[in-house]
Amino acid sequence: MRYALVSDIHSNLEALEAVLEDISAQAVDKLICLGDLVGYGANPNECVQRIRDLTSHVVIGNHDSAVVGQTEVSNFNPHARRAVTWTADTIDPENARYLSRRPYTDRIDDLLLVHATPSEPAAWNYLLSAPAARAEFQSFTESICFIGHSHQPIFFSLDEVPRSRKDERLVCETGERYIVNVGSVGQPRDGDPRSCYAIYDAGHRTVQLRRVAYDVKSAQRKILKAGLPPVLAARLSRGE
Ligand code: ZN
Repeated sequence: MRYALVSDIHSNLEALEAVLEDISAQAVDKLICLGDLVGYGANPNECVQRIRDLTSHVVIGNHDSAVVGQTEVSNFNPHARRAVTWTADTIDPENARYLSRRPYTDRIDDLLLVHATPSEPAAWNYLLSAPAARAEFQSFTESICFIGHSHQPIFFSLDEVPRSRKDERLVCETGERYIVNVGSVGQPRDGDPRSCYAIYDAGHRTVQLRRVAYDVKSAQRKILKAGLPPVLAARLSRGE
């Protein structure tokens, strides 16, 4: 079984379409979405519709939750807050209802799926350090937990000494457990502007991060035309 895991699409249709095209050539059996379908970009309805049509494994992200009024926007920075308001005004009621019904966590085979952290999925904490990851491992029993949220592709393993890596490919060792952040499709923040997603091959027990170039300029033009904060367009070319 081969899974494609996408996260943090953030209404960036150009990025999503490029990633879906890349996925179509990867002999994938199932698509999984780790949340934040909307927020920041100009195509919330198109992105939600595309994911709805392709998979039933979709967990809710903090932006999805804020757009449907389930998470306070006071913790968001002003640009993100502006994008949440714009998205709430733009999204179809049916798509909003769909987002509001997504679960915080999902399980498929021996995988746990969550947007932020397994210990407190609704607290929207960022998991960035090895010590923090070590604590998170105590809150689930599956062999791999896939996350998004920070837009930083990274692997954490449960070793004697926890370590974090940014390798492009992870070979899962028998008996070892992992937390994998699959990066962001629609707003990469690790200095590489290309979209990021992961392929998990359950048979070979490998996780591969893939980077996909997309039409950044078109996504930027739409953000500006929609009247969203220009910084949300500018950051896409820098991958930050
Ligand atoms: Zn996000």
